Amino acid sequence: EARLIGPAARPEDAFERALRPKRLAEYIGQPKVREQLDLFIQAARRRGEALDHVLLFGPPGLGKTTLAHIIAGEMGVGLKQTSGPVLERPGDLAAILTNLEPNDVLFIDEIHRLSPVIEEILYPAMEDYQIDIMIGEGPAARSIKLDLAPFTLVGATTRAGMLTNPLRDRFGIVARLEFYAPEDLAHIVRRSAQLLDVRIDEAGALEIARRARGTPRIANRLLRRVRDFAEVRAAGAITAEIADRALALLDVDPLGLDLMDRKLLSAVIEKFAGGPVGLDNLAAAIGESADTIEDVLEPYLIQQGYLQRTPRGRIATPAVYAHLGLKAPPRPET
Ligand code: ADP
Repeated sequence: EARLIGPAARPEDAFERALRPKRLAEYIGQPKVREQLDLFIQAARRRGEALDHVLLFGPPGLGKTTLAHIIAGEMGVGLKQTSGPVLERPGDLAAILTNLEPNDVLFIDEIHRLSPVIEEILYPAMEDYQIDIMIGEGPAARSIKLDLAPFTLVGATTRAGMLTNPLRDRFGIVARLEFYAPEDLAHIVRRSAQLLDVRIDEAGALEIARRARGTPRIANRLLRRVRDFAEVRAAGAITAEIADRALALLDVDPLGLDLMDRKLLSAVIEKFAGGPVGLDNLAAAIGESADTIEDVLEPYLIQQGYLQRTPRGRIATPAVYAHLGLKAPPRPET
């Protein structure tokens, strides 16, 4: 069964799990999503029913997996976890579905990467808690219907636009996670520091928060690295000055952009005269996949106003030139 539970655990996983809030009240930021879920969870619990299916979307590291676990925790039910690319054969999904206990949560990460045959099985499962499975082969093959326990599918995706319409339409609750404000990230950093037994002051937490690309996963990673720096090069406590020195060493600039961000922005400016440049050309120029650019790199750069996505391609904004210390070319009004 290990294969269904993959992808293989990354070394950071244990660390992330340790810092994962377990209740909705501990989940910091995302006030709208939190309020909605709180309401729907309370209602479902009162009726003793499974929560409606939930689609969570937003860039990596914003807390989708965490929310899936919180939903199961608040509902007081079990959780089974798998991911779109891992589910290859219909039997894989059927095995998971038929093993769910009433009202359990099935969490499917990267749900936009489900194969079409697997999606077909999900439709009646989501709608009627039933699946059709084929048994036998050739002329003797027949399909039988199996009843499932009522369950909640929690799907996570980095891009809602990649989901097929029939799949998206079957989610009763759709929540979009936004990049976190620095104050919320500072709160997360202080909470993590407490759990890790690291001394940090307000200003130190805010410095890490401001430079974490609006993303809790990055904030927690930076905290770990800054802690190393503070222990080896200073007295152990994290202040704004210590955080600043550590982050400079990690090549995280004062705006929180890292090497890859700067590489992408410099490429748009230096190799493509500021753009517009198409996604594939940009990917080739910086040696990253188009998917990584779309999922991981550019959402934050666009949200911060450094990059613009136009029908003709990506364009560097005047703010980037200023940040990189370059003079913006005069641009004709269009
Ligand atoms: P995703 O599934 O969206 O990639 P995760 O749920 O794995 O993101 O979150 C990444 C890390 O960030 C986890 O370790 C979790 O502890 C932390 N985290 C995410 N969102 C929050 C939040 N709202 N409050 C506190 N910690 C969070």
